[in-house]
Amino acid sequence: MNERSSRIDGLCRRALEGAALPEPDLPALLEARGGEAEAVYATAREMRARHWGDTIFLYGFVYFSTYCRNDCTFCLYRAGNAASPRYRKTLAEVVAVCRDLAASGVVLVDLTMGEDPQIHDDPGHAGLLELVRAVGDDVGLPMMISPGLLPDEALSGLRRRGVDWYALYQEVHTPELYARLRLGQPFAARVAARGAARRAGLLVEDGMLTGVGDTSRDRAHSIAVMRREGCAQVRVMSLVPQAGTPLATTTSPRDEAELLSIAVLRLAMPERFIPASLDVAGIGGLEGRLQAGANVVTSLVPPGSGFLGVSHAELGIDEGERSVASVVPRLRALGLRPGSVEEYRGRLAALREGSGAVAS
Ligand code: SF4
Repeated sequence: MNERSSRIDGLCRRALEGAALPEPDLPALLEARGGEAEAVYATAREMRARHWGDTIFLYGFVYFSTYCRNDCTFCLYRAGNAASPRYRKTLAEVVAVCRDLAASGVVLVDLTMGEDPQIHDDPGHAGLLELVRAVGDDVGLPMMISPGLLPDEALSGLRRRGVDWYALYQEVHTPELYARLRLGQPFAARVAARGAARRAGLLVEDGMLTGVGDTSRDRAHSIAVMRREGCAQVRVMSLVPQAGTPLATTTSPRDEAELLSIAVLRLAMPERFIPASLDVAGIGGLEGRLQAGANVVTSLVPPGSGFLGVSHAELGIDEGERSVASVVPRLRALGLRPGSVEEYRGRLAALREGSGAVAS
């Protein structure tokens, strides 16, 4: 075994012994290759098994407005992209798709929108609050909301209406790189909004994007920051270059960067929710993400619903590949099983009570 392999081996052993690996140790794991990478994935699976058994939670995705006032350079739905598909679903359409998702067996609905000016400029965010109240009353599943930056009082209002999670992604945690991605959106404002959401009693998800000029040190920094912030769910996705955006001609990153990031997230934060998104590589990419240590499958969208995904707006949706029926046999083939809503609620309650709380 060469020096690099034996260092990676040692880091995996320390993670299994419960050590919180410091940030300077993480780039070596993120750069693992071949057999070294297999050792990192195996360690991540072992750590998932210790904290989560064979349980994987399935999340429905409801992208209810694709309008946005922002111009993130990586995003299909940026304001300046004339090629972007635009829609704003009615409350009845949102409730109906959430009902379909609940009936199919997801444990959570992720209500997502761009920073739609019509919704953000609505006094008191009344329409948004009404939407989550209607979904909560009708569907009764745990809810995540991904609405962009919101003021503190709106976050408190969402929690009072039963929302469990606030997702707000930094994507990169190195301010210079961030400034090239989220144009005109202050870095600190997103950090502050996640803090306000926590104080309002919401669980918080942050996430990182790879393939945007990030190095293994940038990814290690993101992982260390998300661990320190105490995000209860942490995700990584790869850039999918989008037509009509400044990053349209960027070379797609290797899948391995995302898979190793999932595994290192698991080594660094074994007790947290870590998604395998169907939005990047579709159903064909699911096994690799689960084998890297993910314990959540996200971006399930009902076929024929007219709702879109984010990175791959349509990939596999109308073919039924992003459905519970398509995912469950693939879980079973790996010795995994879908978690129930009751199990999921129990995990959320433990997080809130502190018994399963994340270290910050
Ligand atoms: S990433 Fe979100 S905030 Fe940025 S342009 Fe896209 S929809 Fe808008």
